[in-house]
Amino acid sequence: TRAAKALKDYIRTIPDFPKPGIQFRDVTTLFADPRGLRLAVDLMLHPYAGTRIDKVAGLEARGFVLGGAVAHQLGRGFVPIRKAGKLPGAVLSERYTLEYGEAVVEVHDDALQPGERVLLVDDLLATGGTAEAGVRLIERLGAEVASCVFVIDLPALGGRARLEAMGLDVVTLCE
Ligand code: IMP
Repeated sequence: TRAAKALKDYIRTIPDFPKPGIQFRDVTTLFADPRGLRLAVDLMLHPYAGTRIDKVAGLEARGFVLGGAVAHQLGRGFVPIRKAGKLPGAVLSERYTLEYGEAVVEVHDDALQPGERVLLVDDLLATGGTAEAGVRLIERLGAEVASCVFVIDLPALGGRARLEAMGLDVVTLCE
């Protein structure tokens, strides 16, 4: 009998993408494998058994794949948090700093109701800047972030510490 593949075995590393010196953790190989995708989604859901989650929010773009599957499995709706200019309706925007420059994420201003408990989903936590901007959007709509869940944590970049310092619950599946 063969041992089951571990989550990490489905994740590919591409050197020097998007620029020299960066080791890009590529989850397209995880998504493409039916056992890999199911394993990731099952592991993301596991900590929330018995927890009240009203909506799932996903960060563009890989958070849409995972968040959509998680929302379906929980029987809840899905809310996209998108890069600037993509959502067609009225939006709230949050600007955040990247290593070089800035980025903006947006959410529809009617996507969440006050008091709703939201699970925020993305593939990878690095500095936590993207997730923090997503959290700010959710909280500006009067909703509450029940937890943030990621497949991969890059602990040297401090994202978990940054989100935990905001009082957030953070779940990551591997480092
Ligand atoms: P942060 O804002 O610094 O935490 O970066 C996290 C965001 O950048 C997430 O939306 C990730 O999808 C993306 N990201 C950064 N590095 C990688 C990587 O190595 N693989 C996949 N996504 C990454």
